[in-house]
Amino acid sequence: MLRVSRLVWENWAGNQQGLPRAVAEPSSAAEVLAVLARARRDGRTVKAVGSGHSFTAIAATSGVLLDLDRMRGITAVDLPARRVRVLAGTPLYELNPALEDLGLALPNLGDIDRQTIAGAVATGTHGTGARRHGVAAAVTGVRLATADGSLLWCSAEEEADFFWAAQVGLGALGVVTEVELQCVPAFLLHAREGSGRLEDLLEGEAHRAAAAHDHFEFYWFPHTSRVQTKRNDRTDLPVSPLPRWRGWLDDELLANGAFELLNRVGARAPRTIPSLARVSSRALSDREYVDRSWRVFCTPRRVRFVECEYAVPRAALADVVGALRDWVEDHDVAVPFPVEVRVLAGDDVWLSTAYQRDTAYVAVHQYHRRVQPAYFDAFERIARDHAGRPHWGKLHTLTADDLAPLYPRFDDFRAVRDLLDPERLFRNPHLDRILG
Ligand SMILES: Cc1cc2nc3c(=O)[nH]c(=O)nc-3n(C[C@H](O)[C@H](O)[C@H](O)COP(=O)(O)OP(=O)(O)OC[C@H]3O[C@@H](n4cnc5c(N)ncnc54)[C@H](O)[C@@H]3O)c2cc1C
Repeated sequence: MLRVSRLVWENWAGNQQGLPRAVAEPSSAAEVLAVLARARRDGRTVKAVGSGHSFTAIAATSGVLLDLDRMRGITAVDLPARRVRVLAGTPLYELNPALEDLGLALPNLGDIDRQTIAGAVATGTHGTGARRHGVAAAVTGVRLATADGSLLWCSAEEEADFFWAAQVGLGALGVVTEVELQCVPAFLLHAREGSGRLEDLLEGEAHRAAAAHDHFEFYWFPHTSRVQTKRNDRTDLPVSPLPRWRGWLDDELLANGAFELLNRVGARAPRTIPSLARVSSRALSDREYVDRSWRVFCTPRRVRFVECEYAVPRAALADVVGALRDWVEDHDVAVPFPVEVRVLAGDDVWLSTAYQRDTAYVAVHQYHRRVQPAYFDAFERIARDHAGRPHWGKLHTLTADDLAPLYPRFDDFRAVRDLLDPERLFRNPHLDRILG
């Protein structure tokens, strides 16, 4: 079960590495507990990893790497309550169709489905929707293998403090072996994608569209005033997916194949980037279709990038994006990737980036082969001026001292950590930085 590792662990973006001392691939909660006991005896730390889609070093370890790839699938279904229990290592791309077979769906999703359910929940993965929440808010129960060797079930009714902390638990409280999810009836989305002008969105259109549509987001192409909008609404219309050739053209050729080429050219000849950005902002044309929710939410992302995303109060959306546009105009920085803007309603999950505040998310991306630190630095300064909270899985420079004032329940989270993991079995250098 535990093997000595000579492997270097690397995340999806390739910007974080770890040299785990050993790798364990348990297939049950009992085996997880056995790994924890052995690690304690050997004086090693333990890190559960998902599919390595975080951009930060939150999943990196030099201790025991716990790969839950063998713990996947739905373990229990309560159809009248629309609740399911799912093993922690289940990837979303398996979970979504399995829920569909049961007539169920997660209420909201991010824009890819490669993450494990435990990894997605642990960092507060989210999609968009002014009246919707992130994935963690759908969690109604968590089974946690803890440092003292127990298996703890927590929910809003049982061990409530542990539950509110463990939803977005950052992998700091224990190993999640199973989660319970509150699903909704499977639903279709009517997707409408079009173009617009950044000025219009910042002058009120973004707020109006967010209020009018179930799931609204937009992408702004730096060096242009052009945006691509996505308006997805729940519908009873019949399924009419994109023709296969159109999905391939937009999602594979333009959004991935041609975009990779554009980035490679831009990396070699940065001066061409503004012109290339103007071309790529026009490449994606309007489209409209109806499909299953998860097929609309999630698209393939094959062009490698690194990302920084901040959650800011919804009312600050235009100020943040406007200040970023002004900064790009004033500086000699060429940015081929669009800036993604999403929204979410406030929730009650202690370390959720939308904790008790209606939120706008602004995400900036950079091609993995050409990262300009000044761009992320400038964006972070702007977002922090608006009490921005960084996404737990995306690049940022904040420390525990910076984060504590942003989260009213930060100290409560740390108190739960002290109770559950006093010896810091689950620590790594990144958690030391962000939790102190
Ligand atoms: C291309 C791409 C697109 C993305 N799109 C979005 C998006 O639309 N919205 C969004 O919010 N984010 C998005 N992200 C970020 C991503 O959703 C998060 O970083 C997520 O945490 C990745 O899940 P993972 O399974 O890869 O977890 P990992 O990155 O492997 O791990 C993340 C954290 O979860 C912990 N963890 C994993 N499993 C367990 C467990 N069983 N028990 C305890 N802790 C555990 C790890 O220890 C670590 O702290 C995207 C990332 C990429 C690369």
